[in-house]
Amino acid sequence: MRRSLTIGAFLFSCAVAAPAAAQPADTAPLKKGEIRLTYLGNAGFEITDGRTVVLVDPFLTQFARWTKTGPAPDVAQDALYRPDTALINQHVKRADYILITHGHPDHALDAGLISRRTGAVIVGHETAANLARAWDVPDSSLITVLGGEDYEFGDFSLRVIPNIHSALDHKRYQNNGRGIVGVAPRGLHGPLRRKDYVEGGNLAYLLRMAGHEVLIMGSMNYLEREMEGLRPDIALVGANSQRLEIHDYTARLMRALGNPALVIASHADAYGDPNPSAAALADRKKFAQEVTAASPKSRVVQPTWFEPMIVAARP
Ligand SMILES: [Zn+2]
Repeated sequence: MRRSLTIGAFLFSCAVAAPAAAQPADTAPLKKGEIRLTYLGNAGFEITDGRTVVLVDPFLTQFARWTKTGPAPDVAQDALYRPDTALINQHVKRADYILITHGHPDHALDAGLISRRTGAVIVGHETAANLARAWDVPDSSLITVLGGEDYEFGDFSLRVIPNIHSALDHKRYQNNGRGIVGVAPRGLHGPLRRKDYVEGGNLAYLLRMAGHEVLIMGSMNYLEREMEGLRPDIALVGANSQRLEIHDYTARLMRALGNPALVIASHADAYGDPNPSAAALADRKKFAQEVTAASPKSRVVQPTWFEPMIVAARP
């Protein structure tokens, strides 16, 4: 069963609880020009035109923490941080490419194992590559980028956009003393400790697929001059409250991007918490209001985990 609603000239349909006899939406064939996005939690998405499957920052392991008896303790910096293979196998059936925005564990933890299982090619900076090499991902399955590349793959193309990380620690992110910035060296062997997953720099992406242009962010920050002039119809925007450290975050971004038709909030799901705090829920609403105030014709979506969203052909 699909429920559909129109966004401007776009038809946007969400698959909801398909009856057992119906073809599940996540495997239903797509019409020409359609693109399907499925939210995997945190900054993670699966994006496909029905032929090529691109994952962004897959972090299925985040859901392992939320047990029936409450959240498990967070993994300490010195402790081993193991990807959850059961969750990965449950939710990732196929992948051709994996785009990594940066090396922190909530973005890069699962990629190596997914690549090994699916053969997916990981695109990311040197740190993302070294974290993947720790899981014996061969260089034939790695495309290391710097930011600024614009690569053609046939069925899609990918512009790699220089970016900066969220301003954590009250804007002392770069000098926070917590060991989460810096570059991961070669020669690591998984499983790694949490502290091995350093940022290694930050990237955003513009994925052009099936006539759509999808802007992909993994942090609550950006370089305005790098966003200026891009014209995505779909924008996955880092949306949690860390954005409030940045001057006029949402409006400046909407202006730079030319008011995308569809804005999907990313990295604002409270790390998989099934019972997010009242503050987190209020902030989600606030982000949607910011988008609407800056870009009244944009549709804002708070994505639901694992619920496919199908966007019709771009007019
Ligand atoms: Zn990060």
